[in-house]
Amino acid sequence: GIGRPGVSTAALLLTAASGGGLVAYADSAAESAPEPSQNAPKKKVLVLGTGWAGTSFLKNLDCSQYEVKVISPRNYFAFTPLLPSVTCGTVEPRSIIEPIRRMFEKKSKDVTFYEAECFKIDASKKTVHCRSAVGTNLDGNGDFMLDYDYLVVALGATVNTFNTPGVLEHCDFLKEVEDAQKIRRSVIDCFEKASLPNISEEEKRKTLHFVVIGGGPTGVEFAAELHDFLVEDLVKLYPAIQEFVKITIIQSGEHILNMFDERIAAFAEEKFQRDGIEVATGFRVVRVSDDLITMKSKSVGEEVSVPYGMAVWSAGIGTRPVIMDFMQQIGQTNRRALATNEWLRVRECEGVYGYAIGDCATVSQRKIMDDISMVFKMADKDNSGTLTLKEIYDVLEDICLRYPQVELYMKSMHMLDIADLIKGAIGDAHKESMVVNIEEFKKALSHVDSQVKSAPATAQVASQQGNYLAECFNKMDKCKEQPEGPLRMTGGSGRHFFRPFRYKHLGQFAPLGGEQAAAELPGDWVSMGHSTQWLWYSVYASKQVSWRTRVLVVSDWTRRFVFGRDSSRI
Ligand code: FAD
Repeated sequence: GIGRPGVSTAALLLTAASGGGLVAYADSAAESAPEPSQNAPKKKVLVLGTGWAGTSFLKNLDCSQYEVKVISPRNYFAFTPLLPSVTCGTVEPRSIIEPIRRMFEKKSKDVTFYEAECFKIDASKKTVHCRSAVGTNLDGNGDFMLDYDYLVVALGATVNTFNTPGVLEHCDFLKEVEDAQKIRRSVIDCFEKASLPNISEEEKRKTLHFVVIGGGPTGVEFAAELHDFLVEDLVKLYPAIQEFVKITIIQSGEHILNMFDERIAAFAEEKFQRDGIEVATGFRVVRVSDDLITMKSKSVGEEVSVPYGMAVWSAGIGTRPVIMDFMQQIGQTNRRALATNEWLRVRECEGVYGYAIGDCATVSQRKIMDDISMVFKMADKDNSGTLTLKEIYDVLEDICLRYPQVELYMKSMHMLDIADLIKGAIGDAHKESMVVNIEEFKKALSHVDSQVKSAPATAQVASQQGNYLAECFNKMDKCKEQPEGPLRMTGGSGRHFFRPFRYKHLGQFAPLGGEQAAAELPGDWVSMGHSTQWLWYSVYASKQVSWRTRVLVVSDWTRRFVFGRDSSRI
């Protein structure tokens, strides 16, 4: 829970004036919900997507309180962090997926699943339009429509080619299970093709040149998997052509893994250099044809073309067409993802009760100090520029509810202890009369980060958001009676029902091949090498969504240790 924040002695004892009335604020009581009527039928919750965000929401939702419907074109959940391992047969595709109906077997009375794709969200009519690929209705097609009281958009993201010519036609992607299976077949195809008679050396070199475009965690992990597959399995099976094999990573930034700590990026680059994986940094791919990848040096502007046998595009995520259409309807144009407020409610969607979680959404950034000024102004009802000690406690509690950074800062400055001491010394009798200078106090807080950082597009964020939203839905009635959130800035008085969403970063891994991995853990702790790979194994085994997949994944790893990877092309 959130402790009562404290204040510094200096700030407490100063008084002065500050001006300014209430400033209109963009976000109103955005997380408010329709009023339930007595004995009313259950509210309809419609969930779009069964990825990390959607399944985490469903797992944590008390489905008996609502009528829940779920739409997804895939009737399974895929454990995406192990997708790169599927590309080379380290784990089998069926080991990393769990059927949705099995996941929610115990809730099957309250949850209805439809295997279909949502192709339009009609925000004004509170309906979604869906299309099934497997069945037809009385109209002779697979289209149907569903309505909702609350919509939870968890549609994830698609690949982003940045409109680079030739990418869609010639590159492989690594986003879905089918993509990983396709890559596995293509890798083997390249080896079989290069082994055919009457193939020139030049052609062999081209066919066995594997290019990964994008040096983020997915591209790096795929390159590492591919390298392991080559050195541990394929060189023994295709000894005649091993000298022609080459792996290249093309990265537009100065370093690969640039979202990680720089020690990890340096460790990965050195390891890849030792392994013979070429890392071309500072190059942007501008064109891909059926046999050439053309890239442009960012520093000198020169274009270079390289022949390739197989290219995997892993250079960023984009917006699904259905999300783009939805954004256009609600006036959120020129964005990559749906903007939500801190309660994960879609902005500009007042009265529509739409929430967005996971990769298709982004919590809008706002300046903390603007919010802080606003909270102070609201508390300073007589416009005197001062607040009593009691008021300042309330204001700080409110700010800490909104911003973990402020709470951390106050704790680190021991403000809490000081405030408690003062409180004890002055006693309750004087509490109301102590006054605090607002401007001085704001100055004291201005050391905190000036921006709320938007959370990255990861499974960790998606599942925390799903969990948070389900908890809000579960305690909707209770929180309407006893709101637990900060003060509303506009759209009515009182408090928000819920505390805002807070992302808790638990660290991230980068497997680098050769039984080595790098990890960035909370508290600026970095770990690299063989022991980190064992940490990776244990974390990913424990994170599996069911005992069935856990057993399958661990037995796949064991099979690979004992027998190597299967190079059959099926
Ligand atoms: P998704 O998990 O993509 O789910 C989207 C869901 O929407 C799917 O069920 C999909 O079938 C469904 N859907 C799509 N279109 C429609 C439609 N029109 N109608 C209805 N349903 C639809 N993150 C980490 O934190 N750690 C990692 O190690 C990691 N590794 C990754 C490795 C790879 C290869 C990839 C691709 C991603 C990785 N990620 C990792 C990122 C992580 O997978 C995503 O951030 C996460 O999947 C986002 O969850 P989501 O629920 O928003 O989207």
